[in-house]
Amino acid sequence: MLSLKKNISLKAYNSLRIDAVAEFFFEATSEEESIEAIVYARNNNLKLQIVGEGTNLVLSKSRYNGLILKNSIKGKSIHGDLACISSGEAWHDSVLWSLDNNLFGLENLSLIPGSVGAAPVQNIGAYGRDISEFIDSVRAINLETLEIETFNNTQCDFSYRNSLFKLKPIYLITEVILKLSKEPTIDVSYKSLSNHMKEKNISEYTPYNVCKAVCEIRNKTLPNPLTNPNVGSFFKNIILEKAEYLALQKILDTPYNLDKQGNYKISTAFLIEQAGWRGKSAGELSVSSDHSLVLISSGLASGEQVLNFAKNIIEDIKIKFNVSLEIEPSII
Ligand SMILES: Cc1cc2nc3c(=O)[nH]c(=O)nc-3n(C[C@H](O)[C@H](O)[C@H](O)COP(=O)(O)OP(=O)(O)OC[C@H]3O[C@@H](n4cnc5c(N)ncnc54)[C@H](O)[C@@H]3O)c2cc1C
Repeated sequence: MLSLKKNISLKAYNSLRIDAVAEFFFEATSEEESIEAIVYARNNNLKLQIVGEGTNLVLSKSRYNGLILKNSIKGKSIHGDLACISSGEAWHDSVLWSLDNNLFGLENLSLIPGSVGAAPVQNIGAYGRDISEFIDSVRAINLETLEIETFNNTQCDFSYRNSLFKLKPIYLITEVILKLSKEPTIDVSYKSLSNHMKEKNISEYTPYNVCKAVCEIRNKTLPNPLTNPNVGSFFKNIILEKAEYLALQKILDTPYNLDKQGNYKISTAFLIEQAGWRGKSAGELSVSSDHSLVLISSGLASGEQVLNFAKNIIEDIKIKFNVSLEIEPSII
C-alpha cells in the first residue's frame, strides 16, 4: 500500500523555493516502489512527474495536479573500474566517494548539485567535461511498459545539455554506471580552472586538488541555492553555425569557442552582460551579479514570475543581438 502525501507544498523540494502545491507526492526508495507509484498514477488517471533534488526545475503553476514521484533510491558499488550508483544518491557525494575509492575522472564535475539520476538527463557538465564521457550505461524503468531497460552510452544519445531522457521523458532512471579510470586523468585545460591552480601556486596536479580547486571556484562564483534560491544556469550557452556567428559578429564583437562539430559556442553570460542585465532586479527576482546566467529568487517568486522575468531577458537578447536563448531547467 503506497503512503502517498496529499496537497503538500513543494517549496522544500525545489532550489528556486517556489511554493507550488502537489496534489499527490510519493518518495520512492526502490524500483519496486517506483513501479507501484507509476501504476497508481496510471490507474487513477494522474499525470506523473519524476523529481530528484529539484535543482533544475521550474514549477510553473501554483498547483501540480497529478503525482510528484521523488526518486530516493540509494546504493553504490564498485566493480573493477565501473562505479554503479543508484539514482537517488547525491551527485557530489558520489564524486567524493569515487575519488576515495581511487576511481578518477569526475573531479571537474565536483559540487554540481542534484541527484545521480538527473545527471544523464541533461548531460551535466562543467569545467570542460560532461558526464557523457563517463557513462557506461544507464538503467531505467520505462514509464509506459514498466519494463527495466538498459541503455549503453550511444543509446543515451547525449549532446550538449541534452540526452534521450530529456528528449523522450518516458524513463525513470534508477541506476547510473560510470566507467572511471584507475589512473589519475587530469584535465585542467579549462581556463578559469588552470588560472585558479596557478593563482594558488599548485604545480602538482592530482584529482584531489582539481576537485578542491573546482569546489573553491564554484563556491566563489555560484550563488548558494540555500541562501539565494536558484537553479544554476538558467539559459544554455548558444551554439551557432558559422553564418549565424558572422551575423552576430556584425552587431557585437563576441568571443567564441569551436565545438567538436565546428560550431561556434557563445557564452550566453557574455551576451546577458553586454545587454546590461548583470545584477539587475525586478520584484522578487534578479540576475546574479556574480554569474550572469543565474537568476536568483528572493524565495517568494512564483514560477510564473520566474518565467516572465526570463522571458524579458530572452526578448531583450533577441532584439539586441538577434539570438534566441534557450531555457536550461525543466519546466513543469
Ligand atoms: C547552484 C547550481 C549550480 C549548478 N551547476 C551546474 C553545472 O555546473 N552543470 C550542470 O550541468 N548543471 C548544473 N546545475 C543544474 C543541476 O544541478 C543539474 O541539472 C542536476 O543534474 C539536477 O539534479 P536534480 O536531482 O536536482 O534534478 P531535478 O531538478 O529534480 O530534475 C531535473 C530534470 O531531470 C528529471 N529527472 C530527475 N531525476 C530523474 C530520474 N531519476 N530519472 C529520470 N528523470 C529524472 C526531472 O524530471 C527533470 O526533468 C546547477 C544547479 C544549481 C542550483
